[in-house]
Amino acid sequence: MAQHAGKLILYNTLGREMQTFEPLVQGRVGVYGCGPTVYNYAHIGNLRAYVTHDILTRTLRRMGYEVTYVMNITDVGHLSGDNDEGDDKMLKSAEERGKGVLEIADFYTKAFFNDTERMNIERPSVVCKATDHVGEMIDLIGRIEANGYTYLSGGNLYFDVGKFPTYGELSRRNERKTRARVQEDPNKRNPQDFVLWFTKSKFEDHALVWDSPWGRGYPGWHIECSAMSIKYLGEQFDIHAGGIDHVPIHHTNEIAQSEAATGKRPWVRFWVHNEFLVQDKGKMSKSSGGFLTLQSLADAGYDPLDYRYFLLGGHYRSQLQFSWESLETAKNARRSLVERIRVLAARAGPERLDQGSCASGLSEQANGYLSAFNRALEDDLSTPRALAELWGLIRNPDIEAGEALACAFDMDRVLGLKLDGVARAAMRDGDDSEWEKEIERLIAERTAAKKVKDYAKADSIRTILKEQGILLEDGPAVTLWHKIQGWTAPPED
Ligand code: AMP
Ligand code: ZN
Repeated sequence: MAQHAGKLILYNTLGREMQTFEPLVQGRVGVYGCGPTVYNYAHIGNLRAYVTHDILTRTLRRMGYEVTYVMNITDVGHLSGDNDEGDDKMLKSAEERGKGVLEIADFYTKAFFNDTERMNIERPSVVCKATDHVGEMIDLIGRIEANGYTYLSGGNLYFDVGKFPTYGELSRRNERKTRARVQEDPNKRNPQDFVLWFTKSKFEDHALVWDSPWGRGYPGWHIECSAMSIKYLGEQFDIHAGGIDHVPIHHTNEIAQSEAATGKRPWVRFWVHNEFLVQDKGKMSKSSGGFLTLQSLADAGYDPLDYRYFLLGGHYRSQLQFSWESLETAKNARRSLVERIRVLAARAGPERLDQGSCASGLSEQANGYLSAFNRALEDDLSTPRALAELWGLIRNPDIEAGEALACAFDMDRVLGLKLDGVARAAMRDGDDSEWEKEIERLIAERTAAKKVKDYAKADSIRTILKEQGILLEDGPAVTLWHKIQGWTAPPED
């Protein structure tokens, strides 16, 4: 297993600059990522956030760190506005579907992990549900109260941002001067104050309630992330991740609560935020409806890994515009990648496949690609550059097939494109039968494209096959194929 001594540079939202990552405890990293609110399917924008967390944790692990990655499941307390306004997302969904809140939560949690598995996103080390941690939330709120940061008003317990001088440090906005967008809660002293515990609200009939020192009720949304991350990662930890929308309110409030409770600063040292996936110039969002799910991409003929490949083609801190055309481009690129891996596997032979390692005795050229790949990821997780290095490696005719394959697998420990499985499928039974089946499948797809006069697609399939050393010959009834004599993989473009 390759392991190297590079330094990871991350853009830290706290401070707004690139910083060299150092963990609190040598060799170990604690990562917390805000998980889904399970009132509906994840949309493909949400999945961008989880692929970002996946690339981060896989990179850290490949660098040799022992990573504890914690993800929460929000099944209580999340209102449609992050600032305590709007509908309760879980309640509304349960009512609309005529089901219980926990039944809804259970259904969409399963659906979420089904999606992440299909995208080869690794399971977090700890997955924790908010409803299982209300005791921890009550304890943490008690500490915040004991330290003098709270007030009771209209039956709810609020966090008083006026008592917390560094409030808004993460978002760099003077929050106290910013007016809330919607009608203000008259119970609040300051529009940025937020609820820690609800006993009285517009949801008098809230389905889930617990006893607490402040009365029977339920927690605010932000407190769950503070309580669960502290439980599993300690009062100070290394990295907190989430979507960019969480900077001004949710993460700002998480910091205020956690530091007010423990008195320790900084609560979290590195804040990693992914930019949005956008569609037609707007953010994709669950609450606005009409969003795309992974299943809707699958129904349109795309493999979940095509979408993963599409996401890797953009840097996590840049907005990414979703379009069917660019997904199609990603699909074709991944297909070419898979074909090349099959060719390399067929050349290398099964024994090379099982050796697996590319750590020692690498040729200078292969080592060059691998080092550049590592540098790309260590430079704020640049997956587009990392992908380019993978392509360079597998296209280089001077690199021996077994070596290229071993290095590609090593790179794939972060990219997560299941290249190992592809190669093994090609090798099964020691012959090319899987690969040949794939060629037949591509030819059938090309014939179908020609039938509907989609010549661009037909041509692109011909090109993909040619790049893999396969020539097509269109006969009157069928298309024949044969391997180009003495073919070797073409050099890098
Ligand atoms: P939610 O389930 O709404 O709490 O969101 C789950 C995660 O997805 C959070 O980290 C959000 O910041 C993130 N997110 C929401 N919308 C998008 C989007 N359009 N693109 C990327 N990330 C998003
Ligand atoms: Zn959170």
